[in-house]
Amino acid sequence: MDLLRFVPGRARDDARPRWRNWAGNQVCAPLRLHRPLTEVELVLIVRTALAEGERVRVAGGGRSYSGVALSDGHLVETHGYDALLDLNVTRGLATVQAGASLRGLEDELWRRGFVLPPWGDAGEATLGGAISTGTHASGLHISSLASQVTALRVVTGTGDVIDCSPERDREVFEAALTGLGAAGILSTITIQVQRAAHLQQREEQIDITDLLDRQQALLHGDDQMEAELDLAGGTALLRRSRRTDRVPDLGWHDRLNDEVATRVGRTSVERAGRVAPSIADRLGRVLPHEPLTERVERATHLAERREGPRRLEMEYVLPRQHAREAIERVTDLVRRGNWQPSLPAVLRWSAPDTIPLSMGYRREAASITVRARPSEPFQPLFEAVETVMRDYEGRPHWGKVHFQTHETLRPLYPRWDEFQSTRRRLDPRGVFANAYTDRVLGVLR
Ligand SMILES: Cc1cc2nc3c(=O)[nH]c(=O)nc-3n(C[C@H](O)[C@H](O)[C@H](O)COP(=O)(O)OP(=O)(O)OC[C@H]3O[C@@H](n4cnc5c(N)ncnc54)[C@H](O)[C@@H]3O)c2cc1C
Repeated sequence: MDLLRFVPGRARDDARPRWRNWAGNQVCAPLRLHRPLTEVELVLIVRTALAEGERVRVAGGGRSYSGVALSDGHLVETHGYDALLDLNVTRGLATVQAGASLRGLEDELWRRGFVLPPWGDAGEATLGGAISTGTHASGLHISSLASQVTALRVVTGTGDVIDCSPERDREVFEAALTGLGAAGILSTITIQVQRAAHLQQREEQIDITDLLDRQQALLHGDDQMEAELDLAGGTALLRRSRRTDRVPDLGWHDRLNDEVATRVGRTSVERAGRVAPSIADRLGRVLPHEPLTERVERATHLAERREGPRRLEMEYVLPRQHAREAIERVTDLVRRGNWQPSLPAVLRWSAPDTIPLSMGYRREAASITVRARPSEPFQPLFEAVETVMRDYEGRPHWGKVHFQTHETLRPLYPRWDEFQSTRRRLDPRGVFANAYTDRVLGVLR
């Protein structure tokens, strides 16, 4: 461990390290940046901060669009704290250091014949960061990734370490699971894993109205399903995947064509089409035509394909019965405001869980994500969409842009007060707070 990092005293502002998130919209200048390799270091960082009267935040992969990971005190980057410590093949349980990236962990598990439960698109997010904000994939039976966790080791705001699970210190376990980094530092995580299998993914174009009419019927079995919505045009790209015994069987030429068509072809032609239809015509003739409508791949490869450009996102998780009306209102907003979103919105579905601050807490949910490039004036559209979502008791994704405060969020979470009292117990001096948690969780008193 580099002891120099623990020399007390405030660094000059211009000498401070800088940290920014992936999207580039959140920047901070922490007093000190740490890259621990051991749990002992995590404990020491907290104790040093306590002695100095400073605060501590953990940054995982920086894949949140909100200010949730920012710190003006100590910032802990967990990239190097990423080992797979144990794989219990009989029980299908993996114990991992919290800084493991989802992609890296999936690769490591794959080599041993296992995969993570469905986790969505954020491959470079860490397991600790993903569960701390309630990250979820999409499907009828799929609840948050955190709901698949069976045990945690947590470093508390007093510099102690607690082993917890549903059987042992349950309140601590549930609060720390999706705790926005405000209820302790997750040190190690034990998560349920599945036998390795490829995914067979199919894509089809469908009208948004048709999708909304048939959403319940389309959502069946163990499929993962999500849809990209062209709100201005009224169409959706519906994407479903399921586990399969098949293996990837495409030749390199088909793969390359598919890759180019997916990443460059469609978006470029669409964007060019809006400005100059004749250029779009020519591009359309040169570029590979349509991407494939069916692929067999590993989950990581499918996620890579969907990662897309740098952008900002707002996501709201609603009771599923309101999805149709909410989307109709958002579509109406987009049309009336003559907004031309350069990126499609996304519609997802999820199953309920029982984690106090999970957006999916006891909710058969649909979630609606609106997206914009960082250079676009996103705020007016996001604010307007948020107004609609609040009419349906929508819960904002903790890791994405939103404008709510603890006063407006509290009524949305039935176990809010219970979470706060466990948080107070775990972090009596508010060492894990930052401006974002002050806004959305309230200042600890
Ligand atoms: C390209 C992309 C794709 C995405 N896809 C999805 C998706 O499919 N589904 C979805 O729901 N979301 C998705 N997201 C959002 C993303 O999953 C979350 O924002 C997630 O929190 C990012 O994890 P991270 O490791 O980058 O954490 P960060 O953004 O670095 O941190 C998030 C929070 O976790 C806390 N934290 C991190 N590590 C620890 C730890 N060890 N102990 C305690 N707290 C910790 C931080 O303090 C912070 O509060 C996506 C984001 C991007 C940029």
